Amino acid sequence: MDYEFLIVGQGITGSILANELANISPKFKIINYENVSSSSRVAAGIMHPMALKRGTLSWRGKEFFEFSDKYYENFDRLNGSEFYKKYSFFRIFSSFEEQNNWIGKSLDNIYENVISINENPIKNLNHSYGSGLVKTASRLRITEFLDFFKNKFSHNISNNNFQFKKLELNNKLFFYKGDSFKKVFMCQGVNAIQNPIFNYLPIIPNKGELINVKSKYLPNFIINSGVFSLPIGLDKFTIGSTYNHRDHLKRNTKEAREELLKKLGKITNLNKIDFLSQKYGFRPTTMDRKPLIGEHPIIKNLYIINGMGSKAVLMAPLLIHELLQNKIDASVEIRRFSNKIKAENIDFANSLIH
Ligand SMILES: Cc1cc2nc3c(=O)[nH]c(=O)nc-3n(C[C@H](O)[C@H](O)[C@H](O)COP(=O)(O)OP(=O)(O)OC[C@H]3O[C@@H](n4cnc5c(N)ncnc54)[C@H](O)[C@@H]3O)c2cc1C
Repeated sequence: MDYEFLIVGQGITGSILANELANISPKFKIINYENVSSSSRVAAGIMHPMALKRGTLSWRGKEFFEFSDKYYENFDRLNGSEFYKKYSFFRIFSSFEEQNNWIGKSLDNIYENVISINENPIKNLNHSYGSGLVKTASRLRITEFLDFFKNKFSHNISNNNFQFKKLELNNKLFFYKGDSFKKVFMCQGVNAIQNPIFNYLPIIPNKGELINVKSKYLPNFIINSGVFSLPIGLDKFTIGSTYNHRDHLKRNTKEAREELLKKLGKITNLNKIDFLSQKYGFRPTTMDRKPLIGEHPIIKNLYIINGMGSKAVLMAPLLIHELLQNKIDASVEIRRFSNKIKAENIDFANSLIH
């Protein structure tokens, strides 16, 4: 069949892209192998514009938040769904220094609608240095969001492993297993490190683990004190996440579970918490902490969208919108890594051309 677009990967990135491309043409195909540990299926889905460790706005944080907030709200309105929800979000301070920084920032105009100091004590929590409110915070239930797309585009999706060796380029058209495509988009998350055309890009898998617990004790809003607690209903909470770029093993670890409980134990009584389950996934992070978006330097109409790190929900809608408008932000453009392209990538790219 003749298609306009091929998307490889249906995580949050591929799904949002498909949603946009569907407005341009219904003739697109998605190839995605199901993977319960894919980053998007594991992610908590929390979105806010802050870099909490530094206590500052994250890169383009306000702009991303405003765009994505409208994007997901519109999405739910148009589809009659409820995947997106605003949350109260409190940062539990770990020192006077952090508290002072937050107070200072909250007096600054730029932060006016973003953060404030919380004067009220939070029940059941040890927070001797107080807490701050992030006024713009929300959550996307990503698994349900992805399943919605899986059903909506069921005629366009094939549950298969995309094999690069079977891709051919002839007279400006891509051919893959009997189908033709005008444009190809690679949205593979960490699996892009096995992509023979794009694997010169510095994608660093960063393992993250989360646990679900049961408690009648934790608050019914998001708290973050280095670990977050996210209420997911019926007295259940997701606690996360760890960050580990050294552990590449595809399994849950006792160390991560203990680390999360230890951090949670600093702010609440662990005797009131029952462990339920654990999950892991690998975030696609990058050397300079910026996403990787753009067209392949040799093969025209072959694109990559990757490197969303721990802020895919926040950044993906606007960055994909900009890509489709031909207005890629220079900080995310893959051209910044052109000097890393290897001879084998060039050879492979040339081998596709017939
Ligand atoms: C523990 C944890 C917690 C997180 N929490 C948050 C959070 O609260 N908020 C937030 O914004 N982000 C969070 N993240 C980060 C977020 O999950 C990622 O940035 C995001 O999921 C990346 O999405 P993606 O679509 O690029 O990749 P992925 O989710 O990895 O999707 C890629 C898809 O492509 C498929 N694929 C790959 N190669 C092929 C191939 N050759 N053929 C066919 N299919 C292929 C994969 O199977 C997969 O389905 C978290 C991550 C982790 C691990």
